[in-house]
Amino acid sequence: MPASARRRAIQAIAAQGPILPAESNRGQLTDIYGCNVFNERSQRQRLPKEAFKKLRQTMQTGHSLDPSIADAVASAMRDWAVEHGATHFTHWFQPMTGQTAEKHDSFLSLTSDDHIINEFSGSALIRGEPDASSFPSGGLRSTFEARGYTQWDPTSPAFLREGPNGVTLFIPTAFCSWTGEALDKKTPLLRSEEAVNNAAVRLLNMIDGPQVDHVYSTIGLEQEYFLVDRRLADLRPDLLSCGRTLFGANPPKGQELADNYFGAINERVLGYMQDLEYELWKLGIPAKTRHNEVAPGQFELAPIFKKATVSVDQNMLIMEMMRIIADRHGMKCLMHEKPFNGVNGSGKHNNWSLSDNLGRNLLDPGITPEDSLQFLLFLTATIRAVDIHADLLRVSVASSANDHRLGANEAPPAIISIFLGSQLEGVVDSLLGRESDAGKHVGEIKLGVSAMPPLPRDITDRNRTSPFAFTGNKFEFRAVGSSQSTAYPTTVLNAIVADSLNFLSDQIEARKNGGELRDIVHGLVVETLKKHERVLFSGDNYADAWTVEAEKRGLPNLKDTASALPHFVADHNIALFESTGVFSKREAESRLNVMCENYAQQIRIEAATSTQMVSTMIMPAALRQQSLLAQAIQQSRHALPDADLGPQEDMLRKLNALVAKLSASLKSMESIVESFDDKDRAHLELVNFCRDEVIPTRALLRQHVDLLEDLIDDSFWPLPKYREMLFHR
Ligand code: ADP
Ligand code: MG
Repeated sequence: MPASARRRAIQAIAAQGPILPAESNRGQLTDIYGCNVFNERSQRQRLPKEAFKKLRQTMQTGHSLDPSIADAVASAMRDWAVEHGATHFTHWFQPMTGQTAEKHDSFLSLTSDDHIINEFSGSALIRGEPDASSFPSGGLRSTFEARGYTQWDPTSPAFLREGPNGVTLFIPTAFCSWTGEALDKKTPLLRSEEAVNNAAVRLLNMIDGPQVDHVYSTIGLEQEYFLVDRRLADLRPDLLSCGRTLFGANPPKGQELADNYFGAINERVLGYMQDLEYELWKLGIPAKTRHNEVAPGQFELAPIFKKATVSVDQNMLIMEMMRIIADRHGMKCLMHEKPFNGVNGSGKHNNWSLSDNLGRNLLDPGITPEDSLQFLLFLTATIRAVDIHADLLRVSVASSANDHRLGANEAPPAIISIFLGSQLEGVVDSLLGRESDAGKHVGEIKLGVSAMPPLPRDITDRNRTSPFAFTGNKFEFRAVGSSQSTAYPTTVLNAIVADSLNFLSDQIEARKNGGELRDIVHGLVVETLKKHERVLFSGDNYADAWTVEAEKRGLPNLKDTASALPHFVADHNIALFESTGVFSKREAESRLNVMCENYAQQIRIEAATSTQMVSTMIMPAALRQQSLLAQAIQQSRHALPDADLGPQEDMLRKLNALVAKLSASLKSMESIVESFDDKDRAHLELVNFCRDEVIPTRALLRQHVDLLEDLIDDSFWPLPKYREMLFHR
C-alpha cells in the first residue's frame, strides 16, 4: 500500500538535514537594534532643529502635532526610507478585524516631462483615504457613505519592513470614518491614554505640586505560541481555516511529566527564535526572553515593556513576524488560544503600569508603601476600578478562542479578582485596622550551601492562578488571549483607572477643608478600600470553593463570551466610556455588533470546517475500516468455519455503533450550519444560538471522531495526530 500523505510528511521530517546557520555575519546587537526604525537618532540627523523638537515633544507627551512640520517630517522620512532601499510606503492601521491592514503606494511620481521622482508630501504622511466600506464598522457606516481616513499617529515610530524583493515604509495610523467615529482599535487606545494622563496628572498635582505634567501607561506583553511542522499542519484543514485542531485524540504522553516548561530548547526551534529576534531587533522591538512553555511544542517570547501605544503596535508586528519567520523555517506558528485539547492553551500576560515625566513608576511601592500617598492612591484607584468594572475587563478578553482557556484550570478563571501579594496585603490589613502576618516573610533566602550567597527574598510571592496580579511594581492581567490585539484590554484598564483617579480627586477636593492632606487621603483610601476589598483574593483561583465564595461576594462570573458581551453596553460601562471620552454610546454599540459578528463567524467557520472534515475525511476512513473488518470476518468464517469470531464481531459492532452516532451528529451539524443563513437573528441572539446549540453539537461530533481515531488503522487515518504535531520537529 502506498504511504499516506501523513506518513510521507513524517518521513520527510525525520530525514531533514541539519539546521543551516544564517548566511552572513549579523553584526552586534547594539548596531542592528532599531536600524529599520525612523527613531530619535535618524530624526535628529535629518530634521531641521525646530521640527525635530516639535516632533519629539508630540512623541513623548502626546501634545498635538504642529501641522506645519508635516512636510519636513515627510521629506526626512522619505529620504531615510529611500536610502534604505524603500520604494513604497503604507499607512498601517488596526481595523476591528483584529488584524492589521495596509495598502502600499510607491513614492513614484511623474513630472510634466515624464521624469520619475520620489515624492512623499506632508499631506500623504498625515492622511490616507482607504475605502472603508469593506472593513467592519458594526453599523456605523453604510456602503454609500464609505469614506474612511487613516491619520498618522506620530506617537508611534515609522519603520521599514523588508520584503523578499524590496523595502516598504510603514506609518502607524489611526482609522476613522468621515464623521470622525473610530473604526479601529488604536483610536480608543489613544483616547484612553489621554484620559489616564489627565486624571493622573490632576491627582498628582494635588498631592505633589505641579512638577508632573505627563503620565502614560506602560505595558510588557508575554506572547505564547505553538510551532508545528508545516508538512503536518498543511494536512489539517482545521489548522488552515480555524487556527486550531477541531479533532484529535489525546496522545498517551502530553504535558503530564511537566518536562517541557523551561526545558532545553530544540535546535530547530532555537534557530527559529534566533532568526525571529534578529528581525525584531531591527524593528526596534526589544525581544528579551525566550523559553519553552508548559505544553509540548509551546513557547514564549517577551520583550521589554514600553509605552502602551507603542507596545500594542509592536505586539501586532511580533505576531506577524512570528508567522512569517515560521514559514521560512518550514513551520506553522499557531497563535490561537487553544490549538490542542488536553494540553495548555496560550495566553498573553499584559503587564501594565503607569509612569510619569519624572521617570517614576507610579505603582512602585518603594520601601514604605504605607507612607507614600501617591502609591496608596494609585493602588486604591486600581482596586476600585477593577471591582466596579470587572465585567468590562472580562469583555475585553472575550472571544470564542479564549473561552477554551478561561476557567479551564490552566488559565485564570472568568471571575476577575486581584492578587496583591503578602507585602501589600499587610499594608491593606494595617490600613483597615486588622492584625495580620502578611508581609512578614521579607528577608533572605538561605539554601544551606555555604558557597552560595543568601538571596534577598522578593516582596511578593507569585500566584499563578490569579487573573490580575500585582507583581512587584505593576499589575499583570493574565486573562488576555494569545492571538488578540491588546488594544482593548489596555484601553479598558486605562479608562477604568482614569475614572477612579478622577473619583479620588473629586473626593479630595470635596474634603479640602477637612484637615491635613495626609489625613484626608488616608481617610479616603481606607473608606474606598473597605468598599472594594471584596475584589481582593489571594487563594487558589482554580478551586471550586472560590466560585462559591465569589458568588457570595457578589463578583460577576461571566463564564463565556455570550454571557460577557452584553455587559459592554451596560449603563455603568457606557457612562465610563462617555466620561473618559473613549467611546460615544453609538461607537460602543457598534463595537458590540462587531464583537458579536466576529464571534458568530468564528463559530460558523468551525462548524462548517467540522462538517466538511467529517464528510470528506473521517467518514470515508471509518467506512474503509468497517469494510476491512467485515471482509476479514467473512474470510475467517470461510476459512475456519468452527472458529470463535466473537471478538472480531464485537469490534465491528463497536465500530458500527460509533459510525451510526457520527452520522447522526453530522446530520445535526449540517442543519445547524445551514441555519446560520437565517439572517434575521439579532446579533446577541445569534451569539446565544452559537453557545447553546452550535458548540454542544460540535463537541459531540468531536467526541465521536476522537473515539474513532483510536479504532481506525493508523496507516489510513488522514489527519496528522496530536503526538505527531506536538513532538515531531
Ligand atoms: P514573568 O515572570 O511574569 O514570566 P517576564 O519577565 O517574562 O515575567 O515578563 C514580565 C514583563 O513585564 C516583561 O515584558 C517586562 O518588560 C514587563 N514589565 C516590567 N516592568 C514593567 C512596567 N513598569 N510596566 C509594564 N510592564 C513591565
Ligand atoms: Mg514569563
